[in-house]
Amino acid sequence: MGTAGYDRLDLLAQLLREARHALVLTGAGVSTESGLPDYRGSDGLWGARRFEELAHIEMWRSEPEEFWAFYGRRLAHLGEAQPNAGHVAIAELERLGFVRRVLTQNVDGLHRSAGSVAPLELHGTLAEVECLACGFRGPKEIAAAQLEAGAPVPLCPACGSNLKPAVVLFGELLPPALGEAHAELAQCDLLICCGSSLRVFPVAMFPERVLSNGGEIAVVNLGPTGADPQARVRLEVRTGEALPALLDLLEN
Ligand code: ZN
Repeated sequence: MGTAGYDRLDLLAQLLREARHALVLTGAGVSTESGLPDYRGSDGLWGARRFEELAHIEMWRSEPEEFWAFYGRRLAHLGEAQPNAGHVAIAELERLGFVRRVLTQNVDGLHRSAGSVAPLELHGTLAEVECLACGFRGPKEIAAAQLEAGAPVPLCPACGSNLKPAVVLFGELLPPALGEAHAELAQCDLLICCGSSLRVFPVAMFPERVLSNGGEIAVVNLGPTGADPQARVRLEVRTGEALPALLDLLEN
């Protein structure tokens, strides 16, 4: 980080000290530093199919074997992924009381692994599977074990229907976490947006929501975001670098 970056980091530290209800919002950029691909990115292809097609509820319904070939691979990647310095710094900011809660677009569960308390997983989680037929919900290992044993599609241990990862697929409604997110945003006076272009629903709406309450926006992201014109602080720095440095400033 250059000198200018540190000036803006000072301002972000000051805003965090003054904030009463700061939230951290994270997107794929925070997890790519843990080696997880950004499936929505320009290289987000699986064979000839686009991510939006594969991760669609219709794909799960009509071509479950193809769907699970993709998700089985994602679960395997996830098994190897560890929280990075950005996840750890966010959990520490929470523990010290600077940040009230994490809202995330990510489904990898790495905020929980890093120690964040009750992160709001807006798109659900890959750490669990669910059954739409009977309501069963359990750990992803139930599906992973069946796939490893050669099953093309993992089945519900309660009723035998096809299991689904507990993520929000394209074509599905967003989960109750969204209602909770709006309750958090209504109190929020500082929203720190990390590793997200902020162009996807629903997070694209979040900065405006905070600004309309008189709150401030900070952006930590490589590349432009939808909130750049409104941001009080804008850091063009990896979160794994910026957030530990921010933590250092706040602790000293
Ligand atoms: Zn079931």
